[in-house]
Amino acid sequence: MSYLKFLECRQCGQTYQIEPIAACENCWAPLEVVYDYKRIRAEVPRTQVESRLPTMWRYKELLPVTGEPAVGHSTGFTPLVAAPRLAKALGVRELYLKNDAVNFPTLSFKDRVVAVALSKAREFGFETVGCSSTGNLANSVAAQAAAGGFKSFIFVPADLEPEKLINTQIYGATLVKVSGNYDQVNRLCSEISQKYSWGMVNVNLRTYYSEGSKTFGYEIAEQLGWRVPQNIVVPMAGGSLITKIHKAFGEFKKLGWIEPAATRFYGAQATGCSPITTAARNGTCEIVPQKPNTIVKSLAIGNPADGFYASKVIQETGGAGEDVSDPEVVEGIRSLAETEGFFAETAGGVTVAVARKLIRNGTLNPDESTVLAITGNGLKTIGAVREAISAEEAIRPKLADFEDRYLKLHAAASA
Ligand SMILES: [Zn+2]
Repeated sequence: MSYLKFLECRQCGQTYQIEPIAACENCWAPLEVVYDYKRIRAEVPRTQVESRLPTMWRYKELLPVTGEPAVGHSTGFTPLVAAPRLAKALGVRELYLKNDAVNFPTLSFKDRVVAVALSKAREFGFETVGCSSTGNLANSVAAQAAAGGFKSFIFVPADLEPEKLINTQIYGATLVKVSGNYDQVNRLCSEISQKYSWGMVNVNLRTYYSEGSKTFGYEIAEQLGWRVPQNIVVPMAGGSLITKIHKAFGEFKKLGWIEPAATRFYGAQATGCSPITTAARNGTCEIVPQKPNTIVKSLAIGNPADGFYASKVIQETGGAGEDVSDPEVVEGIRSLAETEGFFAETAGGVTVAVARKLIRNGTLNPDESTVLAITGNGLKTIGAVREAISAEEAIRPKLADFEDRYLKLHAAASA
């Protein structure tokens, strides 16, 4: 049974039928999916959710897919783990990592949004799907389009990490490299989706696609024992994820599934592309577009589609926006790996480094519970840390060589 009601403009409140529409026709603002919360509250007890398989679809009443999902049956319900060693390094008491670096099938949180978008694409009757992407979305659309039997066209900036290009082409997707930045690629995609009857997951399917991000928030609340953290640090590219985690916590409160406690939302970006954190710091929601220049390609969106709303969530919840330099990002990736054994991609390095900065400058209260959103896997951005890792020369297979090279060094270092 579906609890989907209609789409509603976030700006002017105009409502629309459930159709593949990119934005409000009056004011071009993004649209929001509206559900019949009253009926969900009456008909779906929390225990029913708990009895289901551990995937993102256990929250299906709160997703815009009416039938069975077409793809992504095993996506979601990634681990939320306590991180005591990183907590100690950062100087906080209660720290958790929500680890979408191990999401299925392509090791990033984008698998959630694509599972919803392509299921919706099937319901709308699209046979060809596509996206503009900074990498992770490309990988996920390519993989899940293959699994769902769709044709796919993936548009990316030409300077993307080689790992992410290979992780797209391997699935048989048509990869279109565009010499331009993400914002230019995205504009091209908008034109294409207007001309051809294709399901572009982050253009004409964007309203549905972004709903998939809510499951990241639902899982955090459920895995914390049906409560919300006091603080959450979220990396921002287009700015959608942070707004959708906020929506997710709000929906759970509306349904009476969790207590109405408050969470402060902290947004994280790289200094080389920080339009949202800059706006939040200036106390405004108006985004001034930037030309990205950072190793954090997955967050390099200079004109973020949901930047306005992301900055709003940050300010309204009493959080903050903060950004970090590329060397700090690498340091963040390393300290996460060395303390907790997680290898996150550059966006994860941003999150950890921003959390450190917020704690050091007294913005984030170290005595409160905090969740860090880890959204992608480090194996996809090896190049970003290559220089930080020292190259080892081989030894001969001799005990003496080993002792000479390593144990003497070790002894010298610990003397
Ligand atoms: Zn409108």
